[in-house]
Amino acid sequence: MTRLARTAGLTEVQTDILATVRAFVDREIIPNAQELEHSDTYPTDIVERMKEIGLFGITIGEEYGGLGESLLTYALVVEEIARGWMSVSGVINTHFIVAHMISRHGTETQKAHYLPKMATGEIRGSFSMSEPDLGSDVAAIKTRATRTDEGYTIDGAKMWLTNGATSNLTAVLVKTDLGAGSHNEDKPHKNLTTFLIDKPEGTGEVLPGLTIPGKIDKMGYKGVDTTEALFDGFRVGADAILGGEPGKGFSHMMDGIEVGRVNVAARACGIAVRAFELAIGYAQQRSTFGKPIAEHQAIAFKLAEMATKVEAAHLMMVNAARAKDSGERNDVVAGMAKLIASEYCAEVTQEAFRIHGGFGYSKEAEIERLMREAPFLLIGEGTSEIQKTIISKGLLREYRL
Ligand SMILES: Cc1cc2nc3c(=O)[nH]c(=O)nc-3n(C[C@H](O)[C@H](O)[C@H](O)COP(=O)(O)OP(=O)(O)OC[C@H]3O[C@@H](n4cnc5c(N)ncnc54)[C@H](O)[C@@H]3O)c2cc1C
Repeated sequence: MTRLARTAGLTEVQTDILATVRAFVDREIIPNAQELEHSDTYPTDIVERMKEIGLFGITIGEEYGGLGESLLTYALVVEEIARGWMSVSGVINTHFIVAHMISRHGTETQKAHYLPKMATGEIRGSFSMSEPDLGSDVAAIKTRATRTDEGYTIDGAKMWLTNGATSNLTAVLVKTDLGAGSHNEDKPHKNLTTFLIDKPEGTGEVLPGLTIPGKIDKMGYKGVDTTEALFDGFRVGADAILGGEPGKGFSHMMDGIEVGRVNVAARACGIAVRAFELAIGYAQQRSTFGKPIAEHQAIAFKLAEMATKVEAAHLMMVNAARAKDSGERNDVVAGMAKLIASEYCAEVTQEAFRIHGGFGYSKEAEIERLMREAPFLLIGEGTSEIQKTIISKGLLREYRL
């Protein structure tokens, strides 16, 4: 057999990109991840190298200076990066979602303005749907954009912006009431609009009426910043509306989240692969009762089950990426891939942790970090319960009597 999580049918370009990224991860990410994680330091040097390699523009069209690669290529790159350190994949994930939304739904002016600079990483994106009172229930958004003579005024509080402080472009989903009597009155998700907001990096009142308080102190996923964003009479022009027309933000964001789900699945695959690698290595080095623990059947069977889960999750993630690339509706397969990859990732890291015995509980052990990373994947881009809602709705649509 070959090693785990290999993908059949890749082009030469995809194979070359993955080899480059894998070498970059082994040489520059894995050796630095522990220190950066424990000191909660943004990986500036790694981000600069990713710009040079072209990773910020990997899916952006060649006409805008990107590599024009598919979602599958991107997902496989993310899997490799997350194998090194999930936080680094977090830096490009929100950027990738925003670039995808602009490429698919932006006006020609927005595409020409943003995409070339996003391809080089000069502009880096974050996106903001969640609020203190809501995450799963996106249609309940309260942050509101009110129409004025000059454009819009935004008021409200957003929460959990990954790269909120280190990005210089934020795609924010807000409520834009289209007025009493509008045909959308009873469909709240039709009254949501995405604004593209240019902002300086940093924290504090970064623009009049827009405050990015400091980083939220998280259990894991360190290094990459996650922040709130407070809008208080923040003024923005109507030309900042993604696609130029209000009321379409929900479907734009859901399109972004659908590719985001494949990407979260890919991250889960990367972490699970790494947990397996650490476990199978440790199991051959650590001896108890006169033999390496890998020779105790209980441990060998754990390795067999872990590897099977790694492989199954990888195949479903690849399947979901290919479905999206072929233009098929992929909400169900993306939901399934995200569900199984994140749940298996949590199980595989837990088993790898047990195989490490007491050493796994030490902060010196890489598995300790993976144990703190895995739970985020059960939540981000929709919890497992939300994936099951999407999957079951899709099944009932397909199998309707
Ligand atoms: C580190 C981190 C980074 C994040 N980055 C971003 C970001 O960049 N941008 C962004 O917009 N958001 C971001 N989020 C927010 C994330 O998307 C939400 O936390 C997630 O969608 C869950 O929402 P919630 O926290 O409000 O949980 P809730 O929606 O309050 O859910 C609480 C619990 O109830 C369950 N539940 C909710 N509704 C149902 C239902 N109908 N049926 C059954 N069970 C249900 C959920 O599964 C969960 O178990 C981030 C979150 C974290 C932790």
